[in-house]
Amino acid sequence: MSSALQIVWVYPDLLSTYGDRGNMLILAHRAKLRGIPVDTLEVRSDQALPYGDIYLIGGGEDGPQALAAQRLAADRGLHRAVDRRAVVFAVCAGYQLLGHSFFAKGAKCDGLGLLDLHSDRGPTRAVGELAGDIDPALGLPMLTGFENHGGRTHLGSGVKPLARVRAGIGNDGATEGAWSGTVIGTYSHGPALSRNPALADLLLRWATGEENLGAADDTWHTRLRSERLGAVGLA
Ligand code: GLN
Repeated sequence: MSSALQIVWVYPDLLSTYGDRGNMLILAHRAKLRGIPVDTLEVRSDQALPYGDIYLIGGGEDGPQALAAQRLAADRGLHRAVDRRAVVFAVCAGYQLLGHSFFAKGAKCDGLGLLDLHSDRGPTRAVGELAGDIDPALGLPMLTGFENHGGRTHLGSGVKPLARVRAGIGNDGATEGAWSGTVIGTYSHGPALSRNPALADLLLRWATGEENLGAADDTWHTRLRSERLGAVGLA
């Protein structure tokens, strides 16, 4: 097995509609800046999920989302990954399919049951800036992102909200995203890790066990954050 950090981008053929592949680029870049060797693996939905240290799942439209959930359920690789405490970072459609169930094209679909939550449909589509105060236990600055989803997500007692909403809708207008162990789900596109480099570093710390990654040049991330948070009066 390679000693490099294995970053797996799950099903680019189904879940790449909303630019979340950028999360893989940001993670790989920030790892390399710290001298951490990285392999990035893009795994299509007709392939078996390989061993990975970090699994990234993106957003997608309803049809591909339902298909991705079926294939991940049959593959079981993500279940095994969560059992061995690999890091999983899932966005929007990817986040919803980690729960017990979600709605796609009007039909209730089985999720993977890896996060204790379920999603239904809201009265409106949530489109626009999303911002929230991240769970203090994670020690991160405010979450910023862009959301675009019809679903609403309801958290069970086995997960904690990733953030308390300050702008936008997120799960339900009050909370945004969820986390449990080393699994994080969010509605934040942008891509999320370009807007939230501290969140990228949290994933790297979890995956490497290295508490002190060292500084990285965050000039462009900081500029993007202040512009987008400024747009909703939170800069
Ligand atoms: N199809 C899902 C919804 O609308 C997820 C959309 C997305 O990934 N942006 O809720």
